[in-house]
Order: sequence, then structure tokens, then C-alpha cells
Amino acid sequence: LNRRLAEFGTTIFAEMSALAVSTGAINLGQGFPDTDGPEHVREAAVRALRDGRGNQYPPGPGVPELRTAIAEHQKRRYGIEPDADREVLVTAGATEAIAASLLALVEPGDEVIAFEPYYDSYAASIALAGGTRVPVTLRPHEGSFRLDLDELRAAVTPRTRLLLINTPHNPTGTVLTRAELTAIAELAVERDLLVVTDEVYEHLTYDGAEHIPLATLPGMRERTVTIGSAGKTFSFTGWKVGWVTSSPELVTAVRSAKQFLTYVSAGPFQYAVAEALALPDSYFSDFRAEMTAKRDLLAAGLADAGFGVFRPQGTYFVTTDIRPLGFDDGFAFCRALPERCGVVAIPNAVFYDDREAGAPFVRFAFCKREAVLEDAVGRLKQL
Ligand code: PMP
Ligand code: GLN
Repeated sequence: LNRRLAEFGTTIFAEMSALAVSTGAINLGQGFPDTDGPEHVREAAVRALRDGRGNQYPPGPGVPELRTAIAEHQKRRYGIEPDADREVLVTAGATEAIAASLLALVEPGDEVIAFEPYYDSYAASIALAGGTRVPVTLRPHEGSFRLDLDELRAAVTPRTRLLLINTPHNPTGTVLTRAELTAIAELAVERDLLVVTDEVYEHLTYDGAEHIPLATLPGMRERTVTIGSAGKTFSFTGWKVGWVTSSPELVTAVRSAKQFLTYVSAGPFQYAVAEALALPDSYFSDFRAEMTAKRDLLAAGLADAGFGVFRPQGTYFVTTDIRPLGFDDGFAFCRALPERCGVVAIPNAVFYDDREAGAPFVRFAFCKREAVLEDAVGRLKQL
């Protein structure tokens, strides 16, 4: 393994899912739903396969039907309409979108600012691009993890090339407010920075929190690369259909990297996701309501079991503090949890450079059937 990747090893998601399989524990670690997405969308994939749509290399930027559906979806929800031909790129999941964006836009030695805790592929993708990651730590404040805007401003140097942000935020569940996004946008304009914004949980916000795409703020459309994914919104994480929307220049740059990573993304699923994006608004509101109920169930259960709970405003994860239970090392806690009570969770410390800062926090996923969540809560109460 080369020096750029040596620090990364096996991702925590693979490690903890393997532990769940080998111990038979309930897997609230890796974030994937235990119920597949809509039947209608699955049928659309079957139809595409059967009718021979997408069984051979689809066009590099993605099939036109999907690019148009992505553009229309953004118009319907956010009032922005990327040009389907020049401003949309289909990728192999958000993971490839992140890697291709960084490989395309970062020069070796450039600094990339990312919120900490950060999704694990950010660090690896920055490293692959030869960049230097500069974490800005989100800190607990009145029940949620918040950004310190002064710290963010102070992190920008003449070497800073881009900000890599994520809202709704995995693993904390924080949803950036309009005021926070406005401050980020002003900083980006002032210091002439690009922003890559990972919005894969755009449809999963709760308690009236509103997802605001950074690209909708003044001056941002031309300098923002927005990333989405069908995995989260439609519960098909195995399909690996994601996308990038941005200016024609930035999309062309990202496509230059993507063409040598995967060339194209799997064809038939693209047709199915095009149909999914056109589902009526009720699909998205029902999905959000379902996830709200699951969040409430798990958050209440974890609190009853004695965890400190950061009630998420978005995503399908709850971050907890294990110190009220008498523990302080999330790694050791998560490694022992399957043996102790038959549940798997993720230690947030893996998402930090400052591992001390992340040590007492542990993440649980709630994208599971209610009976599974109830079973898990029952087990955690035995801790
Ligand atoms: N970004 C975030 C914040 C995620 O949580 C995930 C995965 N769950 C991804 C990107 C990767 O998405 P995909 O499965 O579409 O590659
Ligand atoms: N994004 C999912 C999570 O945060 C998992 C994705 C993965 O396994 N790479 O749990």
C-alpha cells in the first residue's frame, strides 16, 4: 500500500459489519436500510434490464433520462435548474463523486478544509488527490454539534483550495442553518474557494429543519460542486447511483477524473433512478415521516438505556455520548458491544484527526425496521 493510503486500512463500516455477521449482533453500525426502496422503482430497473436499456456502456455523463430527472428534481424542490447536458454528471454513488471531485480540483499540496467528524472517504479522497486535510471540529453545543465560524475562518490559508462540507451531516445529524451556510458562502467568495458539498441526506431532515443547498446562495452556483445519491433517498444503497451538479466548467473537470475511475456508471439502474426522482412529493414526505418515527424510537430508547443523546435534525444516524454510562473510549466500547449485548455501532473517533475529541461518541443507525430497533433498544438496556 502506498504512503498516501497507508493510514487508512480497512474502513470501519466493513470492519463493524463483519463483526455483526460473525457475532450475529444487530447491525446499527453501517448505514444501510433493512428494507429495500419502492417496488415500482425496482420494477423500473427490471424493465430496463429486460428491454435492453443500459446493458451496454451508457454515455459517460450518464443517461439523458437521469440527467434530466436530476435537473427537474432540483428545480421542483429548490428552484434551481442545472442544464441537464452541461451541468449534471452521473457517478458510481456519492463515493465516486467525492473522489472524482477532489482528484479533479485539488493540486498536490493544496489544503482542503473538512468538518470533523468527517465521513471516512473524505480523508482518503483528499489523500489520493495529494491534498492536505485541515479539519474544523464541530463541537457539542446545547444538544447538537455546531460549527465555530471563527475557527472555520481561521483555518483558511493561502494554500486552501476548497471547503468540503456535508449537510445534513453524517455522523452528527447536524443540519446547517441558513445563517451558517451564508457565512460559509461569504467566506468562499471572499477567499475565492471552491466548495464541494455532500448533500446525500437532502431528504432526511426532521423537526422542521430545512435542507438548504449551498448552491442556491448568492455567488455560489459557479463555485459549488453539489453531490447527491439515490442510495439514501430511495433505499437502494447497493445500486451505487450518485451525481454531481455544478457549473459546466466544474462538471467537465469532475468528468475528466470520473472517466478514468469507472468510465461510466451501471446503466439499467440509471433508468430506474430517473423514475424514482419523478415520484410524487408524497414519497419524499412519507419517507421522512417514517424515518422521523424511527429516529424518535431509537433516540428515546438510547436515552432510557443511559446514553447521552444528540437528537439528530437530519440523516439516519444518532450520535451518543457514552460517558453517562461510565465509559470513555468509543473504540473499546464498540468492539465489546456485540459480546456485551448483541448490538453493533460505530465509534465516531474514526471520523476525527483529533481522536481525543471524538473518543466518547458512538453512532447508531436507525434506518432499520421498528421491530429491529426495539430489539436493539431492549438489548442496550441490559448494558
Ligand atoms: N457521503 C455521506 C455523508 C455518506 O454517509 C455516504 C454513505 N452513506 C456517502 C457519501 C456515500 O454514498 P454512496 O453510497 O452513494 O456512494
Ligand atoms: N455511508 C454509510 C455510513 O455512513 C456507509 C457507507 C459505507 O459503508 N461506505 O454508515
